[in-house]
Amino acid sequence: MSYDQNNIFSKILKGEIPSTPIFENEYVLAFNDIEPKAPNHIIIIPKGSYTDSFDFYKNGNDLEIIEFERAIAKIAEDLNIDKTGYRLISNCGRDSGQEVPHYHVHMLAGKKLGPILG
Ligand code: 5GP
Repeated sequence: MSYDQNNIFSKILKGEIPSTPIFENEYVLAFNDIEPKAPNHIIIIPKGSYTDSFDFYKNGNDLEIIEFERAIAKIAEDLNIDKTGYRLISNCGRDSGQEVPHYHVHMLAGKKLGPILG
């Protein structure tokens, strides 16, 4: 699938629609999900144009990937959920139900999250 420059997260990256940023550096942006499913529900995205997890980990460069993974740990520390725990979910492609075609990880925390699949 080719990257859709008009997807919602691309628009957030370009500043065309607002978000509540939690973390930002040269490679990564993280912001609150608009419909939170837990007390903490953060969307973490690379700034590069990747449609999904498969695209990012197959085609992203090493620095982008390392910075993305490091950002996850930094955000967990910043939110004080590194000790209490959190869940990372990334929907990839049709069968996952991925809605926004820019690679993203959901970080959920702030309560006992229960089974992985509800
Ligand atoms: P997906 O189903 O693609 O894994 O998740 C997409 C997520 O993006 C959903 O949890 C949805 O609530 C969130 N979302 C959709 N539109 C917006 C928006 O305009 N702003 C923010 N902050 N989150 C959004």
